[in-house]
Amino acid sequence: MLNVPPPAFPAPSSQQRAAAGGRSKVPLKPGRSLMDWIRLTKSGKDLTGLKGRLIEVTEDELAKHNKREDCWICIRGFVYNVTPYMEYHPGGEDELMKAAGTDGTDLFDQVHRWVNYESMLKECLVGRMAVKPIAAPKEISSTLSEGKKQLNGMLPEKKVLASAAKDLTPSYDWFQTDSLITVVIYTKQKDMNEELVIVDCQDKRLRGEIIMDDYSYLVEVDLDHAVSEEVAVNIAEKIGKVEIILKKKDNIHWKMLGQPWGCHNTFIKRTDRELFYRKCKLVSKTEVTHDTKLFCFMLPKGTHLRIPIGQHVYLKQIITGTEAVKPYTPVLPFLPLDFQETSHHDGVHIYLMIKIYSCGLFTQALDHLQIGDYVSVSNPEGNFKKSQVQASEDLILLAGGTGFTPMVKLLNFALTEVSCLRTAKLIFFNKTEDDILWRNELEQLALKDERFEVQFILSQPTKDWVGKQGKISSSLLSEFVKRSRKDSKVLICICGPTPFTEQGVQYLKNLGYSQEEIHAFTA
Ligand code: FAD
Ligand code: NAP
Repeated sequence: MLNVPPPAFPAPSSQQRAAAGGRSKVPLKPGRSLMDWIRLTKSGKDLTGLKGRLIEVTEDELAKHNKREDCWICIRGFVYNVTPYMEYHPGGEDELMKAAGTDGTDLFDQVHRWVNYESMLKECLVGRMAVKPIAAPKEISSTLSEGKKQLNGMLPEKKVLASAAKDLTPSYDWFQTDSLITVVIYTKQKDMNEELVIVDCQDKRLRGEIIMDDYSYLVEVDLDHAVSEEVAVNIAEKIGKVEIILKKKDNIHWKMLGQPWGCHNTFIKRTDRELFYRKCKLVSKTEVTHDTKLFCFMLPKGTHLRIPIGQHVYLKQIITGTEAVKPYTPVLPFLPLDFQETSHHDGVHIYLMIKIYSCGLFTQALDHLQIGDYVSVSNPEGNFKKSQVQASEDLILLAGGTGFTPMVKLLNFALTEVSCLRTAKLIFFNKTEDDILWRNELEQLALKDERFEVQFILSQPTKDWVGKQGKISSSLLSEFVKRSRKDSKVLICICGPTPFTEQGVQYLKNLGYSQEEIHAFTA
């Protein structure tokens, strides 16, 4: 698996590494951190063995480079010599070797498709595949933007590969008044909602993405004329019509919408879509605990983005010249104590509760951001579905450290919008009292709402701690994880360091909870 970053810096103990949340990380030798890799890539050393020459690689040629000391891997049509990277790979050499001499795109996508391998491995680029080994996507796909087509307000002719899917393929049109341009997307799907529509309009470029289960429809156009920064989105939920309304800068008649761009008018699997980022401004940074801060980022004016419950975004920063990307789960600005006042989803701000690790590459860079600085924020991802909680009567949340973050919106949603909810219990594991995030808010919430209960469990308490003590275990879970009635519908969500989550799931299964009753938040 091409598990490039997140790497360690400096190399941590294996226990720390296991806790670091990445998948099957291995201990790296000293001097093999991400920073060391960045230094090597900037040293001018010939990392491909080709003295800077780029070549066309045939499948036969690729297959020959399948040994540790001579290992080439193809990702999305580009071939990299990963031999120099072997010792720096956080997932270990064996994971990289799984793709040796082959097309590793699928393996890479399964683990960390968000990792910017182009930036990480740019000095290892051997060249392009002569014959692209990636099979064309089998799924419904309509690509209309071959060649530069003008978008003149007519629905373009469709090229639909799967005829059975024809009726499900969204389409778009546009029209104008003196002052407005309206792009209409016919999703042909009922129950469209705000979270399924992501729009970005900046510098005359419009990008409108519609999420439809595992698929995504995209309109991507270089607009013919300038528009003002603000964008409005109207959604006719029942008929699945989405309108993106742009304000003309000059009240002139547009002859066409613009030129298609990138993946315009495609309907493909979400996982095949490149992650889109927009620059967001840091507007505030407040302390939550001694090492954790609440960062508030502001979306650009031309962005319409609502992050669904249980989903995360990726932040991207350039750290010493290399792009680094890490996932974070948006929270609310505070836990609402008054449920009447739930207007924090203003659609403009994104709140992230982030623990700053003293030797963390990404979080140290985040901590050094000044108010007014920009960070790139991606579209949301994640496999949690709101429907999982909508039917639950007992909600049990098991959180370890910042694994608390997905629980915030989930808890708020359950307490405010799930009418059948009878009980909600948070079992919150931390090392010490000082590490407990939003302790006050949680305790107040428990006082305010009798359905909600919070239990703090500390693994490294001081002797003054009178509460529960220990690590996640079968006995602790059997004490706290209970149905309110014998046959009640329960949902148990768990999130924390990877081993914490994995052990927790196993204990829950041993206690008789089914796979459907458990949701584990992982990468
Ligand atoms: P790295 O450079 O990767 O690690 C540096 C060192 O820091 C490690 O060697 C180790 O010593 C220490 N370290 C790092 N992580 C841990 C750990 N978990 N336990 C103990 N020591 C550690 N984090 C948040 O704070 N808030 C979130 O909302 C959040 N959401 C996430 C959502 C998902 C889906 C995932 C997979 C992770 C999420 N994380 C979140 C973790 C986050 O992505 C980073 O892994 C974390 O911020 C550390 O990044 P770093 O580059 O600073 O540390
Ligand atoms: P932490 O402070 O290191 O640990 C929190 C609690 O978990 C402590 O009680 C700790 O006990 C316990 N713990 C740690 N490792 C354990 C293990 N191997 N087995 C059993 N218990 C363990 O946690 P953190 O630094 O905040 O890290 C939070 C983690 O959550 C990160 O790895 C982050 O990636 C992850 N996260 C994931 C998501 C997601 O959506 N997937 C979202 C947010 C955060 P001891 O250390 O004392 O044993």
